[in-house]
Order: sequence, then structure tokens, then C-alpha cells
Amino acid sequence: MKGYAMLKIGEVGWVEKDIPQCGPLDAICKPLAIAICTSDVHTVWEGAVGERHNMILGHECCAEVVEVGSLVKDFKPGDRVLVPAITPDWNSLEAQAGYAMHSGGMLAGWKFSNFKDGVFSEFFHVNDADGNLALLPPSINVVDACMLSDMVPTGFHGAELADIQFGDEVLVIGIGPVGLMSVAGANMRGASRIIAVGTRPNCVAAAKGYGATEFVSYKDGSIEDQVLEMTNGKGVDKVIIAGGTVETFESAVKSLKPGGKIGSVNYLGSGTYVNIPRVEWGVGMGHKMINGGLMPGGRLRMEKLGALVASGRLDVSPLSTHVFEGWDYVPEALQLMKDKPADLIKPVVKFAD
Ligand code: NDP
Ligand code: ZN
Repeated sequence: MKGYAMLKIGEVGWVEKDIPQCGPLDAICKPLAIAICTSDVHTVWEGAVGERHNMILGHECCAEVVEVGSLVKDFKPGDRVLVPAITPDWNSLEAQAGYAMHSGGMLAGWKFSNFKDGVFSEFFHVNDADGNLALLPPSINVVDACMLSDMVPTGFHGAELADIQFGDEVLVIGIGPVGLMSVAGANMRGASRIIAVGTRPNCVAAAKGYGATEFVSYKDGSIEDQVLEMTNGKGVDKVIIAGGTVETFESAVKSLKPGGKIGSVNYLGSGTYVNIPRVEWGVGMGHKMINGGLMPGGRLRMEKLGALVASGRLDVSPLSTHVFEGWDYVPEALQLMKDKPADLIKPVVKFAD
């Protein structure tokens, strides 16, 4: 089979590999469509997961099952499935503790294109198929289905981590595709006001559609100064971080009311420490909670979030701004994500309808 791989840090190309073997609990799938993620760019060009050689990229797709292991109960060849980016081992102690995404160690539920080959490949391997796959609702097209692998669950997890409650005033820092889904998640959870931070016009327009009420540009001075001015010096109830750097936490803490909560799903690619301002953190006693997390994977979440899209309550179609057809376009789609032109939100490559 062929796959599009990270040859080494900073270098990508096609590779030929054997089709992966299917263990008793596993499934082998072939993608119906794949989406490129900012994390793929971090992996290749920033060495985010360390050096890898000839590792097939990608963790966002929907797929058709081609083979299942002897102990798989609920899926069979020919099923069209949603595939989560995070595929935990559901019998692990971490999963029993409620943190399946860390099954096997910190962040180790993230297996595709991290500990094993990813989904930019003619065939790929899914561990614990009954626990991780979900049937693709027929009303969801293959392009939209790709947004359920990572963008919807990660953005919504930001809203969960920030513990958005009815009537909350919320700041969402970063409105790439992840932040856009955080805006949508905060809106669904009943935020009364959503201040969004980001500049790309396409993303600003999409954020309005998902419920952002006001905008701040991090390029026009500090986020906290702008937010404090907009909130009569009081700050917001909750902050979701879906973009920025280690320094963004300083802005988030300063923008938050006492007792407020920060939910971060941003990947921090550089810097040794996250900056927490002592005074604005209530000199250690401000009840300002900071929570950062990898998105939870697994079947139940895929089914529930898939139901939101299938029912029409969540429209993910504005995210897929660049849709290609055929394997030949995978390199171009990845390059687009690296270059991030102003009109891009997500590039998707489809292989079927
Ligand atoms: P994008 O790069 O598309 O979006 C980033 C957003 O952050 C943009 O709106 C950008 O603004 C804004 N931004 C950039 N710099 C700053 C800054 N200094 N201060 C404030 N805002 C800034 O990323 P994605 O939406 O694709 O992904 C967001 C993050 O989530 C990534 O780090 C990604 O790796 C991570 N991620 C985490 C996962 C998890 O499970 N926790 C899973 C998937 C992704 P502008 O409009 O100007 O570009
Ligand atoms: Zn992703």
C-alpha cells in the first residue's frame, strides 16, 4: 500500500508499506476522505512528537472497514465509519480512571501518526475497534465526517474544560478550526457573550456564524487590555485557549474574573514554562482554574457528536474550505495547511462520495 509520510523532521514523501495486520480486537480500514490538521504541520516541520522515519501521517478521516478481528462484535467489512483521532486502549487503568486519552502514558491515546502509521494511507489499523469506531450516519457526507475526527471533539472539549455554564461571558483565544468548534461548543452550552480572538477574515466570518458576538485582534495590543475594556474592567467568566503560545496563558489569567476557569486545547510547541502572572492569579489564591487537555477519543463521543451533526444542530460544512479529490492531491493539501493562506480553514481530500 502507499502512504504519505514524514520521511524525517522537515521532509515528506510517498512510501510503500505492507498492509497492517489485524489483531483480534482490531480493524483495518481504508479512508473515504482525509483532512489535514495543524498538528500534522507541527509533527513534520516542528518535530512536535520527536524524530520519526517514514511514518505515515494523518489522524483525521472517515473510512470503510475492510477487515475486523475475530473478537470484534459491532463492525464488519463494508461498514462506513467515523474514526476518532484519539484511539485509547479502553481496558487500561487510565481509561478506568476517566482519562482514556492518556491510556498507556501521557497523551498515549494519540496513536495515529505518533506511535504508529496514520491514516494518509490506502489502509490503516484501528486498535480496539468496538471501543473506537462509530458508524457513519448516512446523512453525513464524507467531507463533513472528517471534521468529527478531531476538530469537533477537540473544540468542544475546550468548552468542557472551561466548564461553560448558561449565561457565561466567554473568551475564545484562537479561531482556527479548533477554536471555531470551541465557539460553537460554548454557544451550545449557553454562553451569553463570546469574545473571539483571531484575524483571518474567513475564520472571523465563520466564528460569527457559530455564535461569536465580538472580536479582538492579538495583533492590536494585548488581549487582556482589550477584554478588560470590553467588560468594564471585570473580565470574563471563562476562557478557552485554542491558539497562541505559552504567553497566551498570561493573557487568559489576566482576562478572567476570580473563580473563572481556563480550558486549553492548544498544543504548546515551544518554551520551557507556561507563564502564570502571580498578582492576577490572585497571588495564588484567586480560584482561577487552569485545565489543559488532549481531546477524549472513542466511540461514544463519536456517536454523540456525530448525532449533533446528523441532526442538523451543528453544521461543520463551513470548516472545509478546500476540498480535493484523489490521492495525488495529498501533498498539495498538506502544503496548504503549512502555508495557511488567508482563505483556508481546513483542507480535505476525498476518495469516495
Ligand atoms: P490554527 O493555526 O488554524 O488557528 C490558530 C488560531 O490562533 C488562529 O485564529 C490564530 O489567529 C490564533 N493565534 C495565532 N497566534 C496567536 C497569538 N499569539 N495569540 C492569540 N491567538 C493567536 O490552528 P487549529 O485551529 O488547527 O488548531 C489550534 C491548536 O489546537 C493547535 O495548536 C493544534 O495543534 C491544537 N490541537 C489540539 C488538539 C487536542 O487534542 N488538544 C487536537 C487538535 C489540534 P489568526 O486568525 O491570526 O491566524
Ligand atoms: Zn487533528
